[in-house]
Amino acid sequence: MLKITNTMSGKKEFFKSRNPDMVTMYVCGITPYSDSHIGHGRVYVVFDVLYRLLAFLGYQVTYCRNFTDIDDKLLNKAELLYGDQQRYKEIADACIKQYHENMFALNCVSPDHEPRVTDHMPEIIAFIEQLILEDKAYEVNGDVYFHIASFPAYGKLSKHDVKDLRAGSRVDIDIHKKDPLDFALWKSEPEGTFWHSPWGYGRPGWHIECSALASYYLGDHIDIHGGGLDLVFPHHENEIAQSEALHKKNFANYWIHNGFVRINTEKMSKSIGNVLSLSTIFEQFDPMVIRFYYLNHSYRSPLDFSFDDIRASQKSYQRLCKLFSQCNDAQVNAMHGQVEKMQQFPLITQMLDFLIDDMNTVGMFGVLFESINTLANSSQELCAVKCFLQDVVGLTLEVIPEDTVVITPAMQALIGEREKARANKQWARADELRDQLSQLGVGVHDKKSD
Ligand SMILES: [Zn+2]
Repeated sequence: MLKITNTMSGKKEFFKSRNPDMVTMYVCGITPYSDSHIGHGRVYVVFDVLYRLLAFLGYQVTYCRNFTDIDDKLLNKAELLYGDQQRYKEIADACIKQYHENMFALNCVSPDHEPRVTDHMPEIIAFIEQLILEDKAYEVNGDVYFHIASFPAYGKLSKHDVKDLRAGSRVDIDIHKKDPLDFALWKSEPEGTFWHSPWGYGRPGWHIECSALASYYLGDHIDIHGGGLDLVFPHHENEIAQSEALHKKNFANYWIHNGFVRINTEKMSKSIGNVLSLSTIFEQFDPMVIRFYYLNHSYRSPLDFSFDDIRASQKSYQRLCKLFSQCNDAQVNAMHGQVEKMQQFPLITQMLDFLIDDMNTVGMFGVLFESINTLANSSQELCAVKCFLQDVVGLTLEVIPEDTVVITPAMQALIGEREKARANKQWARADELRDQLSQLGVGVHDKKSD
């Protein structure tokens, strides 16, 4: 039986779905305003493994992941690029296309639903209207706020005390709000722009979309809600407030969060400027190596990004690819979906035991590598294990051509030095290093300030 850490209880819990054999899972998606980075890659690989594992365990999983395709960051970028905020959609389209390419490269299964916020304005507006009717939200001059005091359980996920939050909130008092902690559900915009609502023209706040979309696609009470650890507060806390205040029932039974990717012990973040995009890293490493690298770290712990680590992962992954290249394809293919057959092999049972223990991929690879020397002796078991790794862990195990992965230690040192320069905002130095790298045939493409 699957055990998983629930942020709500802070404990590892046995997983029990609301309906037998069916699971509903909502994972917060990206704001498509620039390249997806290796932090995003980690989130969606982690939840992809969870999705695959649940499917392997016999659940029919309905997976929903949104696109926040209207947001200040998108509007600012459109203003910057085109001098016209209303062209935000062009940026969103391009970023979503690239994101899909990145997800495909990482072998992440497409969610069943991938809604865009801008396609669901009626549902979002209706959700807000109901909150106002229930006295959980109020309108002031075309803006609508959620009233925190109307939801006494506020803070239960992030373990924040409302009194402490209030005391700690910067006192830039907004005279329109009843409480400094109240957050925006709808933001008023000039006449004629964005969407028409009962409160005039405007656009939704960030948090409301996930409450509305989860309800629309998965129902008012779902099994799993997930995302990166940075979403616990305020985003997920606010989602809980909106959904539970309205529906008067638990929003999600399991809240699952994965740790950050850090560079030089700082969280990778666009505002700090230490972002490494997936497209950039894929120029140097096969995406499957990156997937393997993520899964060689416990999903809940912070991952301190390191090229040395990735190189080590690359070596181990290539070792696996070579070993499994001995398999007969037909034999492997015949095994796909044969859950019971696969579990007849003791090694697979052992690997699965680790996976169902809070997705312990590190332990799972541990037992695999312990058996690596004897595994080749049984072609049947070898093929079954290959199939298991493909189906549940999502590794394609195709041998990587050597020439795409040769980065010398000298190049590595330059790349490392450049990341450091970027983290310290030494842009001129970073550019110099990029030129040196490109002379060596290593392409790096990233942007300075987004
Ligand atoms: Zn969300």
